[in-house]
Amino acid sequence: MLRDLFANASILVAFISIFHQLFRDKSLNHKLSLSLKIAISFIGGLLGIILMIYSLHIDNNTIVDFRNIPIILTAIYGGLISSFITSLLIGIFRVSYFGLNQSSVSAVICALLMGIGCGVISYIRTSKKDIFIYSVIYSLIISTVSFSIIINNSRILMNIIFVYSTAMILISASIYKYTVYLSGLTSIYRQLKEGYSKDFLTGLNNVRCFDTIFNKMLVDVKEKNERLSMLVIDIDFFKKVNDSYGHSNGDVILKQLSSILINTCGSSEVVSRNGGEEFSVLLLDCYPNHAVRIAENIRTAVENYPFELNDGTKINITVSIGISTYPDITSDLDKLFEEADSALYRAKHTGRNKVILADKVTLH
Ligand code: GH3
Ligand code: MG
Ligand code: MG
Repeated sequence: MLRDLFANASILVAFISIFHQLFRDKSLNHKLSLSLKIAISFIGGLLGIILMIYSLHIDNNTIVDFRNIPIILTAIYGGLISSFITSLLIGIFRVSYFGLNQSSVSAVICALLMGIGCGVISYIRTSKKDIFIYSVIYSLIISTVSFSIIINNSRILMNIIFVYSTAMILISASIYKYTVYLSGLTSIYRQLKEGYSKDFLTGLNNVRCFDTIFNKMLVDVKEKNERLSMLVIDIDFFKKVNDSYGHSNGDVILKQLSSILINTCGSSEVVSRNGGEEFSVLLLDCYPNHAVRIAENIRTAVENYPFELNDGTKINITVSIGISTYPDITSDLDKLFEEADSALYRAKHTGRNKVILADKVTLH
């Protein structure tokens, strides 16, 4: 029996590891899309079926398995829809593999009760650990009732209930610990991945991500002979804001400015924080006059926005924006950034709080 127990534990560990690897980019919760919930339920169903095939031989006549664990897990990850489909798959397999008899009908009913019950339990507003514990208790109740219906000999019945409950508690506690460990790892992985491309303060693309996107765009634009506009945005007198209200209030303003940029430009544009209080927006297929209109929208939106500091005080800031467009303004694509930056420099030196389009430069 120990050999079977070890095989079952190994199957569970292998499946759960592969599952976490497959879904490492997703936050596994009830807000997953329907297609992902269905995918989870099929993986759960497959795991349940394999566990049924590699069942645990308690004695020569008695076989039990841990098919309830995938139902509990799919309920936690995908909610009622996932656990119900998983239980349905397990039920269908039970009948088709072991034939239709009293014990398989009882097994199907138990599986469906598990699917529905664990699905409902997963919506209780409490910790994942509590949901797991409630689901295991529920599963033990269902199994005990089902064993009592099928097995008439009370000595054998007590023996099975004892062995199965002990094994189930041991296995499910280990699996829970393992899933917590894997969730921790995947969450660190996602944080690192996001930190690699996102600016930690504003959530915009960081300069590394900007470089990657910009360089790729340069290749695409050259190849497909497309148009590309670029805005370089810099906060006016930001040092004074920091000096007057403190660095942490400066950070609060940077965050609010980022939201204005996203709201004004739309999420399809490439908005980045290139460093400090300098931002950029890449506008693919955008004519210079349209780029100027977008920049003006940003400038006026910032000018009119009451930026709120940590203590609730409202202040106003302004930004200066330099623009260039390939090929209409800058015919050398590799100088696009440089040209937009010089336009920004001119905006700074001619009064700030303004938008300046770079001078048209033609290569000879
Ligand atoms: P100008 O109008 O010429 O752009 O003046 P400025 O004061 O904005 O320009 P300057 O380059 O002299 O100062 C930029 C300031 O931005 C200096 C620095 O303290 C501040 N800064 C850069 N990064 C951060 C940040 O992450 N948080 C905060 N709070 N301040 C930052
Ligand atoms: Mg500045
Ligand atoms: Mg600056």
